[in-house]
Amino acid sequence: MPDPAQAAVAAAFARERWLLPRRYDAARARALDRFLREALPRAAFYAPYAGRRLEELPVVDKRTVLADFAAFNRHGTSLEEALAVATAAERARDFASTLPGGVTVGLSSGTSGTRGVFLVSEAESRLWAGILMGQLMAPATLRLMARRPLRIALFLRANSNLYETLGSGRVSFSWHDLTTPLAEHLPRLAGTDVLVAPASVLRRIAEARPAGLEPRQVVSVAETLEPDDETVIAAAFGRPVEQIYQATEGLLAVSCPAGRLHLNEGHVHVEPEWIDTTRFHPVVTDFTRTTQPVVRHRLDDVLLAAPAPCPCGRPGRSIAAVLGRADDVLSLAPLDGDRPVPVYPDVLRHAIALAGDLGDYRVEQHGPQWRVAFTTRDEAAHARVVAETARLAGRLRARPPDVVPMGWPAQAPDAKRRRIRRMA
Ligand SMILES: [Zn+2]
Repeated sequence: MPDPAQAAVAAAFARERWLLPRRYDAARARALDRFLREALPRAAFYAPYAGRRLEELPVVDKRTVLADFAAFNRHGTSLEEALAVATAAERARDFASTLPGGVTVGLSSGTSGTRGVFLVSEAESRLWAGILMGQLMAPATLRLMARRPLRIALFLRANSNLYETLGSGRVSFSWHDLTTPLAEHLPRLAGTDVLVAPASVLRRIAEARPAGLEPRQVVSVAETLEPDDETVIAAAFGRPVEQIYQATEGLLAVSCPAGRLHLNEGHVHVEPEWIDTTRFHPVVTDFTRTTQPVVRHRLDDVLLAAPAPCPCGRPGRSIAAVLGRADDVLSLAPLDGDRPVPVYPDVLRHAIALAGDLGDYRVEQHGPQWRVAFTTRDEAAHARVVAETARLAGRLRARPPDVVPMGWPAQAPDAKRRRIRRMA
């Protein structure tokens, strides 16, 4: 007798894999239309907007939602109730507790002060898992699953009852808590087929090379995958590093064989808020979520658009990279004019790479000062970084930053690694 939870995952997975590509645009338009008409008005905030088109709805962000939390979910759950359940679960490292009706509370790691809080139902969790697996699993992995159970190892900051729901005869998930030292997880990774972890953790696993770990798929989540990490990880496992771009707002994009990230447009509508000709902030509408609708949520993330079509042949829009968050963008004083010159993290990373091997590094902007720390013991490294950032400033028609050394910044073990940050 098939478990209904597993059947729901399987149905979402099958639809994702085979049905969507053929009827792409029509299915998508219908799903969005139905979502706006039926699901959306159940949240009090959106009741006055019943029947309106997407373009007529307000653009909101994390702060807007937190300020009026009960109005943004269909159960009228208050922020206090949601936070009480979520923090108790995080403290106990037991993520099985739910609100009435099986609603799970998720917390996003707010690195700039504000934590995102989101409510998802069991049905939404299963749909998400099916979509994720449908987009992620390579044909060879699927063929393997037909012969024996697939082993998926997930390194995440919080577990969810979702993964227990998903565990079945075909797939076994192991959850690895990022607040536990990595060395304790390494012996348990032997025989893993699909390894999913933040980029910085993948790199540490790649460098440790635990015995018996030869994954068929290596997937980076939660952090920006930077080119230097990608090179080390891909070389260690002898495979390309795949990426999932997932936010509180939903599963936003998944990488393809051509190395781009395809927006999850079958389920999520992304409106670009352009910063310049290629970079944009995504404004996200997820039409699979009805417990806490995500409608025109503006994200802080900065994405780099890729020209259509993608060589891999998939339909829809793709992005070349997730560059980071808005406060990963530093600024310099202009040589002429009075508008600060933005320095995007991809551009700065490239300049820093030209300064030679620094080991790991951190850059924090505090006003006119750029404070830097490296793990290399090479005494000449600082002077090389000063020279390269001055050269970069020259190319950007900006004044060079005042680059000063700092101690290695302390960071919680489960916090996202961010090498570049604007603090003030
Ligand atoms: Zn592609």
